[in-house]
Amino acid sequence: MFNNKNKKNTDKKEYDEEMIMVQFIKSNEKKFIKCFFYEKVSDLIRRYRIKAEDNENANFFFSTRLLNPSLTVFESGLLNNSPIYVNTLSNISGGYCPINFTDVSKNKTKEIYFSKNAPSYRGVTKGINICGICKCKMCKACKKEVVVPIKKKKINLIKERDELFCPECESIIIPKTVCFYMCKFKIYGKKIKNGKEQYFENEPDEASNENSAKYFDPELNGEIMVSELIFEVLKYL
Ligand SMILES: [Zn+2]
Repeated sequence: MFNNKNKKNTDKKEYDEEMIMVQFIKSNEKKFIKCFFYEKVSDLIRRYRIKAEDNENANFFFSTRLLNPSLTVFESGLLNNSPIYVNTLSNISGGYCPINFTDVSKNKTKEIYFSKNAPSYRGVTKGINICGICKCKMCKACKKEVVVPIKKKKINLIKERDELFCPECESIIIPKTVCFYMCKFKIYGKKIKNGKEQYFENEPDEASNENSAKYFDPELNGEIMVSELIFEVLKYL
């Protein structure tokens, strides 16, 4: 068997010459940095710092994970338009990027009743259901709130948020809030206030109405940054 080295080299050349653009996101500001797949992440960070005139100590996250500066763009899984989150908070436990989520520590819920006319992407299961936004432009639920039923008793949201898929199109959703159905449940975690992590733990609560789910309304509770968020079913009803 022969290995066509010429062919391989040509392919590699084309691939190496392909340029992509990644976006560095800090608070609400975005900076676009052009790069090649073979470049080191540390070079991108250096260029970002120059462009943003930002010398603050920061952690750089892609998706939920901390970027390793010594890996290449390709090895890190970065693609065109991939978002890199710049986070200046130090000592974040767990090493995952904090996210904005409904401030469930305020514990304000409302009953959402079931309807035969509800779309299929808003199906609720017994226990935990994560509600989020589907950003896929091809999806009929695009920019709408979809519901991801969680079929286990406990979820660590920050760690597992990459595994929450739109029930309609299966792309990753942006989690926003939670609802519970026919269970006794508990919520705890760490929210970030004035740049510091603050542990919170809600009293156990119950969603025991057969015809409705208990929904943590973003409008009632507001939004906050969380670095840890655990939803746990204590008992199914
Ligand atoms: Zn979708």
